[in-house]
Amino acid sequence: MSKEKSLYDNALHQFNKAAELMGLNPDIRKILSSIKNEITVSFPVKMNDGRIEIFTGYRIQHNDALGPFKGGIRYHPMVNIDEIRALAAWMTWKTALVNIPFGGAKGGIKFDPDNYSTNEIRRITRRFTYALGNNIGPEFDIPAPDVNTNEQIMAWMQDTYLTMMPPHERFRYTHVVTGKPLEAGGSYGRNKATGQGVVHMIVQWAKDHDFDLNNATFMVQGFGKVGYWTSKLLCEYGTRLIAVENIKGAIYNSDGIDPDNLADYISKNKRITGYPHAGSVDHESFFKTKADIFIPAALENQITAETTPLLNVKLVAEGANGPTTPEGDEILQKRKIDVIPDILCNSGGVIVSYYEWLQNKRSEFWELKEVDSKLKMRLLNAYESVCEKVKAKKTDWRTAAYIVALSRLEKVYEERGIFP
Ligand code: NAD
Repeated sequence: MSKEKSLYDNALHQFNKAAELMGLNPDIRKILSSIKNEITVSFPVKMNDGRIEIFTGYRIQHNDALGPFKGGIRYHPMVNIDEIRALAAWMTWKTALVNIPFGGAKGGIKFDPDNYSTNEIRRITRRFTYALGNNIGPEFDIPAPDVNTNEQIMAWMQDTYLTMMPPHERFRYTHVVTGKPLEAGGSYGRNKATGQGVVHMIVQWAKDHDFDLNNATFMVQGFGKVGYWTSKLLCEYGTRLIAVENIKGAIYNSDGIDPDNLADYISKNKRITGYPHAGSVDHESFFKTKADIFIPAALENQITAETTPLLNVKLVAEGANGPTTPEGDEILQKRKIDVIPDILCNSGGVIVSYYEWLQNKRSEFWELKEVDSKLKMRLLNAYESVCEKVKAKKTDWRTAAYIVALSRLEKVYEERGIFP
């Protein structure tokens, strides 16, 4: 991997910019620029035809100063240790920013689940969890869904982990993963939480800018868990979804695209192209779409030196982690396109994961409206603290969000000191 393509370098670039501006204690800066634990596992899995394949998986535990490591598990052919390091660091900043007692981690397996049967994915998931062993745990490191993983994968991870525990202790460990199905101890509102959070952020931005969301337009890149829920919930404000891109192509309709109808089409046809209520467009035309809001909700490194000049929007609301490169960020600022940065914008998922974890620990089930109102309050508090920091430091939103997060981490290190 070439130096300039390193995602972790991009994450460090953002970190260093904020650390410089806030004057972060140099010793604490050293600690936070390093990664606590890196786990790489290799494991064999029997395929349906009897062959054995070897898989490589990662769990990067970036920092746990504020609480147990927390972060998703990704299944993707491009998964690599550099990417997972960056994603783990972003989790540390995100949990600190929204003030929940977790650290940051991320994991993944390098493979394309589209090429494997459900049974094979189940065996891959179980062997990965077994290989991680006690490197995860409900009070130590708590995985959750990310790209190409879901509630079912979390149920398999949970079951495998519990099977490794003595029978009489199993129910002490059910909160080893979050984003579980309801029956396995999941929380109401977790499935929509990330999208719900993105929408709360957009609505708040609109209020602050006297911007009418009714009849405004938006475009979404990535129509998975985050892209779908954000689209569905934003349409409830009368905002029109006019362009969607996923891994298979892009579509456009200026009259609006119905998120549920599109989700049905994709689930039946396994592609986005050919959707009868919108025309196909290429990647460049998708980026050139004139819309009010762009929601990247796919992968990192999408808003770059090449693609940012094409954008014709007022706001970028980052559903994805790391969708904007440092070069892309500079161009967005020059072009005065607002950005709600990932660590704030997509934090709804980890916030409700925290609520799920709390419910499990207390053997409780909270009503959806309780989860929803707690999520909204916490997110709006975080939004407010970032807003204040933008003004106080006369800086951009991403750097301000980092400063809020880093100040919390700096404080906890100063209070606790460094052992011995
Ligand atoms: P997902 O697997 O449910 O969906 C991913 C979507 O991205 C799919 O529609 C896929 O077709 C599309 N995609 C993949 N590669 C693409 C490409 N090159 N161009 C265009 N589209 C592409 O994943 P998700 O859980 O919705 O996660 C999406 C993003 O949001 C990731 O960056 C993830 O880290 C971030 N995120 C997810 C959560 C969560 O709760 N799931 C929380 C916070 C952040």
